[in-house]
Amino acid sequence: MSTLDSVLATLEPIATDIAAQAGHVDQGHFPTAAIDALGKAGLLGLTIPVANGGLGLGLDAASAVVERIARACGSTAMVVCMHYAGAAVIATHGNATTQRAIAEGRHLSTLAFSEAGSRSHFWAPMSSARPDGDNVVLDAAKSWITTASHATAYVWSSRPAVDEGFSTIWLVPRTAAGLSVVAPYDGLGLRGNDSSPVRAEGVTIPAGNRLGPDGKGFDVMMGVVLPTFNVLSASVSLGLCNATVAGTAAHAAGTRHEQAGTSLADLPTIRASIARMKMRTDMLHTLLGDTLVALATGRADGMLRVLEIKAAGGETALEVTAAGMRVCGGAAYRKELGVERSFRDAQAASVMGPTTDVLYDFIGKAVTGLPLF
Ligand SMILES: Cc1cc2nc3c(=O)[nH]c(=O)nc-3n(C[C@H](O)[C@H](O)[C@H](O)COP(=O)(O)OP(=O)(O)OC[C@H]3O[C@@H](n4cnc5c(N)ncnc54)[C@H](O)[C@@H]3O)c2cc1C
Repeated sequence: MSTLDSVLATLEPIATDIAAQAGHVDQGHFPTAAIDALGKAGLLGLTIPVANGGLGLGLDAASAVVERIARACGSTAMVVCMHYAGAAVIATHGNATTQRAIAEGRHLSTLAFSEAGSRSHFWAPMSSARPDGDNVVLDAAKSWITTASHATAYVWSSRPAVDEGFSTIWLVPRTAAGLSVVAPYDGLGLRGNDSSPVRAEGVTIPAGNRLGPDGKGFDVMMGVVLPTFNVLSASVSLGLCNATVAGTAAHAAGTRHEQAGTSLADLPTIRASIARMKMRTDMLHTLLGDTLVALATGRADGMLRVLEIKAAGGETALEVTAAGMRVCGGAAYRKELGVERSFRDAQAASVMGPTTDVLYDFIGKAVTGLPLF
C-alpha cells in the first residue's frame, strides 16, 4: 500500500463521521470533533517535514485529503484547507516547536490575509506592524479569518515593520491580548467554517514570530500560499462536485414517476444534465492532477496552472451544483439530499481571494505576456 493509500485508509472512517455530522455543522457549529480526530490520526501534520514529526507528504496528498473531506462536509474541508495553507508557511518559515505542535495535532492553523481595506486584494494589506524593542505591535481590521475562534494561531499579513515591500507575514497567537473576533460567522454556505472578522488593537508579539523576511511577505504569498491554497480550494470544489454528481445520480436512478412506471433517469434531459455534470467534474479532476504534476516536476507552466485551477474549481462547482439543484428538483430544495448544502458551500470559492475575476485577469495577463502586478 502506498503512503497516500494508507493516509486515505486512515481518513476513511473519520470522513464517514464527518459526513454524519455535516448537517449539524451546517447549522453553524465548528467541526471540533472532526478536527480532533484528524489531529489524533496525525493528518493535521500531513505536510510537516518528517524531521519535525510530520508525515512529510506533499500537496498531492493534502489535495486528496481535502477532496475526500469535501465530499463529506464543505465546512470541515475549508477548515482543513486553510489549516494546510497556514501550515505550509510554518513548514517553510516557522520554527520546529510550532511544526511539532502541528504534527502532534495540537496546533490548528489558518490564514489572516483579507482586510476591510484591501478586501480581496490580499497581496496589499493596509494593517500595520510597529517595532517595539524585541516585539512588534500589530493593528488591523481583518475581514475574514476561517477558524477565527478556534485556530491556535493566525498566519497573518501586515505592511512591513521596517523594510520596503508589499507585506510581512507573522505568526499571531489567537489568544494574544488585543485580538477580538468581531462577530460570529453567519453566511450562506460553509456555515461551520467560523470565518469571522478579527480586530487587532495594539497586539504585541515577539519580533521572532516573523515568518520570512520583513517586507518579503509577497514572496511567501506567491511562492508558498498561492500554490497551496489554490490547489486545495480547487480540491474543496472537486469534492463538492463529486458529492453532487453522486447524490444527483442516485436520486435520479432511485426516484420514480409511479403513474408512468419510470425513473427520473429514464428522462433523456435528466441523463444529459447528469452527463454534463460528470464531464465537468472529471475535467476539473484531470486539470487538478495536471496542476499537481506541473508543480511536482517544476514545469514551466506551473504558475499558469496554479492560477487556472482555482478559477476552474470555483466555476465548475457553481455550475455542477446548480445543475444538481435543477435535476433533483423539489427534493434538492430541501436538506435531505445534501445537494442544496453543496450548492451553498460552492458559492464561496469564486469570491475567495484570489477571486475568479482576478484570476481571469491574471491568466489573461500571463498568456498575453503582461506582468501580473
Ligand atoms: C467562506 C469564506 C472564508 C474565507 N476565509 C478567509 C480566510 O481564512 N483568510 C482570509 O484571509 N480571507 C478569507 N476569506 C476572504 C476572501 O479571501 C476574500 O477576501 C473575500 O471574500 C473578498 O470579498 P469582497 O467581496 O469584500 O472582495 P472585493 O475585493 O470587494 O471584490 C468584490 C468583487 O469585485 C471583484 N474584483 C475585485 N478586484 C478585482 C479586479 N482587480 N479585477 C476584477 N474583478 C475584481 C471580485 O472578483 C468580486 O467579485 C474568506 C471568504 C469566504 C467567503
